[in-house]
Amino acid sequence: MPDDQRQARIVDFIAKLTAALGPKGVSTDAHEIEPHVKDWRGRWQGSTPVLVKPASTEEVSKAVKLCAEFGLAVTPQGGNSGMVNGSIPYGEVLISLKRMNRVRNIDVLNDAMTLEAGVILTQAQELADTNDRLFPLSLGAEGVATIGGLISTNAGGVAVLRYGMMRDLMLGIEAVLPDGRIWNGLRGLRKDNTGYDLKQLFIGAEGTLGLVTAATLKLFPKPAVKETAWVVLDTPAQAVELLARAKAASGGAVTGFEIVPRFGLELVLKHVPDIRDPLPSPAAWRVLIELSLPRPEGARDMMESLLGDAAEAELILDAAIADNEAQKALFWKIRESVPVAERAHGKALKHDVSAPVSRVAEFLERGEALVRKMAPQCDLIAFGHVGDGNIHFNVTAPKGVDADAYLEGEGLSVSKAIHDLIMELNGSISAEHGIGKLKRAELAWRKSQVEMDMMRAVKKALDPDNRMNPGRLL
Ligand SMILES: Cc1cc2nc3c(=O)[nH]c(=O)nc-3n(C[C@H](O)[C@H](O)[C@H](O)COP(=O)(O)OP(=O)(O)OC[C@H]3O[C@@H](n4cnc5c(N)ncnc54)[C@H](O)[C@@H]3O)c2cc1C
Repeated sequence: MPDDQRQARIVDFIAKLTAALGPKGVSTDAHEIEPHVKDWRGRWQGSTPVLVKPASTEEVSKAVKLCAEFGLAVTPQGGNSGMVNGSIPYGEVLISLKRMNRVRNIDVLNDAMTLEAGVILTQAQELADTNDRLFPLSLGAEGVATIGGLISTNAGGVAVLRYGMMRDLMLGIEAVLPDGRIWNGLRGLRKDNTGYDLKQLFIGAEGTLGLVTAATLKLFPKPAVKETAWVVLDTPAQAVELLARAKAASGGAVTGFEIVPRFGLELVLKHVPDIRDPLPSPAAWRVLIELSLPRPEGARDMMESLLGDAAEAELILDAAIADNEAQKALFWKIRESVPVAERAHGKALKHDVSAPVSRVAEFLERGEALVRKMAPQCDLIAFGHVGDGNIHFNVTAPKGVDADAYLEGEGLSVSKAIHDLIMELNGSISAEHGIGKLKRAELAWRKSQVEMDMMRAVKKALDPDNRMNPGRLL
């Protein structure tokens, strides 16, 4: 279609949209749109003819129906905190779900709450807490990430080991389909054997099958006590063995098991204020263990005997158990500051990979050898959620070279080798950040033809005109 005709069509579309949603629901103001069309790290810049801000599911439905009528593609957006260039529009109509931030229902006896897509994760956690329950999802972007975005990226975070990913935390969903119809699947059921579990399709779909407008989420009992320890050890294999012992000793109450390399700790000490090393040592690795228990009695003894036995078995070199909230906060702050310190150190090739827990140590050892051989001038910072097999395996660009040129040129062969290794170990090239535009091309050849065919068939069935976040994921 010639540009002037397309422009006239867009003007007509915006007029109809404004009539349907009212002026509050539509914006073409460049200042208002600006933060929505670039990512928080400033890597990607997109554009959109219009920002749509529906306040209800019905308004989302009206907007999507109009998009279908005008043949316009849609990019859904929540907190725009995603890591893989999935939520930035490149000419698509941008639908922000942020105004849809109501609590629909809390059913304490059913351990469930129903929230709209725009509710921020910290608000969901607080709501659970005020109802004497726990909503366990927790991650670095929790102050901005929305329920809709977390569902669409199947977010994980630091408690996956005990509670699972977003996929495991969902009971029901409400979505607007690409033709604008509303599907109300907001069921608070733990058992429902009535055929395909359709909500699963929308979890991790990155907005490619429709818009999530609300969800019914699982709640859990609040633990009465958390015991947190900082452990020094020599090898990743010892960390994995310690994890197995911690799970057995606590009856599955390990809610955090995070690994930090000595170099990562050194960067945190260098770049982040108010941090001290809890247990200075030349050893190569640190592990943060957290047990969440229903009773304070015996909790400290449990952690002490776990660590005492591990020391006796020569699995660990040293350990400190937090005596108070400030010490717990220090241990977690070190872990959570690793990405910040890494950024201060320089740009890096990022690999958000996972392996079966039993092969994490092998991945870390072989991955390090590979980096030392292929890129001896680079620094390696490998850290993260050993407890669920997810490692952030990041390789900084060499000092003194153009970092961007390296990351997009020579560095790509290092990334390919790391992903080859993770695939050999039956792992995944994207453990928690998703695919977006960033890893779309690689996904297509990394997954089997059969798997890609099934994914494309689902997409075609629900979105035959490819108007929902086109060019992302598939
Ligand atoms: C500092 C930091 C730390 C992080 N740590 C972790 C971590 O430990 N574990 C982890 O798993 N992830 C982590 N993440 C990634 C995080 O999970 C995502 O950033 C978050 O889930 C995205 O939520 P959002 O509301 O910002 O969605 P957006 O970034 O706005 O969107 C993400 C994707 O979902 C789609 N989308 C958004 N809303 C909807 C909707 N309502 N319906 C349909 N599609 C929609 C978008 O089109 C896009 O494809 C981290 C991110 C940051 C910035």
